[in-house]
Amino acid sequence: MTKIVFKNIHRENSHTLAVYRANGGYQTLEKALSMPGDDIIDEVKRSGIRGRGGAGFPAGLKWSFIPKDDRAKYLVCNADEGEPGTCKDRDIIRYDPHLLIEGMIIAGHAVKAERGYIYIRGEFVREAEVLQAAVEEAYAAGLLGGSVMGRGVRFDLAVHRGAGAYVCGEETGLLESLEGKKGQPRLKPPFPANIGLYGGPTVVNNVETLASVPDIIANGGAWYAKLGVEKSSGTKLFSVSGHVNKPGNFEVELGIPLKVLLEEYAGGVRGGWERLKGVIPGGSSSPILPKAVCDTVTMDYDAIGRAGSMLGSGAVIVIDQSVCIVRAIARLSRFYRHESCGQCSPCREGTGWLSQMMTRMEQGKGVPGDIELLQSVADNIQGKTICALGDAAALPVVGAIRAFREEFEYHITHGRCMVA
Ligand code: SF4
Repeated sequence: MTKIVFKNIHRENSHTLAVYRANGGYQTLEKALSMPGDDIIDEVKRSGIRGRGGAGFPAGLKWSFIPKDDRAKYLVCNADEGEPGTCKDRDIIRYDPHLLIEGMIIAGHAVKAERGYIYIRGEFVREAEVLQAAVEEAYAAGLLGGSVMGRGVRFDLAVHRGAGAYVCGEETGLLESLEGKKGQPRLKPPFPANIGLYGGPTVVNNVETLASVPDIIANGGAWYAKLGVEKSSGTKLFSVSGHVNKPGNFEVELGIPLKVLLEEYAGGVRGGWERLKGVIPGGSSSPILPKAVCDTVTMDYDAIGRAGSMLGSGAVIVIDQSVCIVRAIARLSRFYRHESCGQCSPCREGTGWLSQMMTRMEQGKGVPGDIELLQSVADNIQGKTICALGDAAALPVVGAIRAFREEFEYHITHGRCMVA
């Protein structure tokens, strides 16, 4: 299987500039600096790569939205990685920070941004240190600064540590935080491509997206587009956690059957495939898929969408028969309630109501009509908030009711969980 973002991580001292360069690192940057920015953008468009942070928006298209005016432009790497279950960007940063830096310089050159920031979550203490050391190495080697590789192109890069708020993974919340304000998402439009960091046109991309750029430019967009499946090209990192024998991060081509990912890469479901109850396929905000769907579904944006969920960040949370779904969703609801920034009432109040009702049901105090009330509260959150956190709180509840309604009903009628 082709490796792109994990191609170097098995090497000793893979995080150092010496090892990165010894294995071809920064050669693509040299090529990219001789290309017009628009040609780089076209190549990324041709690759079909979609943002790996969660939304799945085509990266090349996003870059092409940057206006060609005189304002200072910015490139921001979202390394907040706060979606529960996701831990893939951490490994890229930990083991191959120069791949990310090379991708950022190329992206900066493409969109004419002379300044970049990596916003990394505060809990990633060691990773922030590794990244900072790599940035300093790159400066010392003339790969960053006033004249990248002596080619007269400026690109400065700074590492900024967040303070641990989930909502700062939302791109405008991140920009607010980066500007030194409270990390509260902005109303859109305007979108960051037009008015972003410090009011300038800004591209915000995920770590994995930017780390894929060097290989796309080295081999061509058409090469990348052949990997994966139609509308879901390339490779993807999946963070597999939960009830599998070998949890971990795996880089595979998009379109791989979920069953193959779990059985052949993640060591199989604990106790065997038949013990599987369901899978949350794209981070905790994506609706759970029941086993019957997991038997055949493939891991690509469209297939997971058709199955009623989202590929999201690629965090695959595996749940076996020992789990009470009501309890698991109640736990997630508490998380989203805690992380709501409180700006808009459907999210601020709704996440609280969802959490209270789910907790009440879990404790055996649910009453007839609670399922309908939960759905009504979720309906009044979805699509009615400033940012996607509202949807992220509502979708797991709605998805769990859809796939496991009988467990909710059992809790209400028996006052306890149906799982022994
Ligand atoms: Fe804040 Fe929630 Fe509104 Fe997002 S949806 S802006 S997190 S209150």
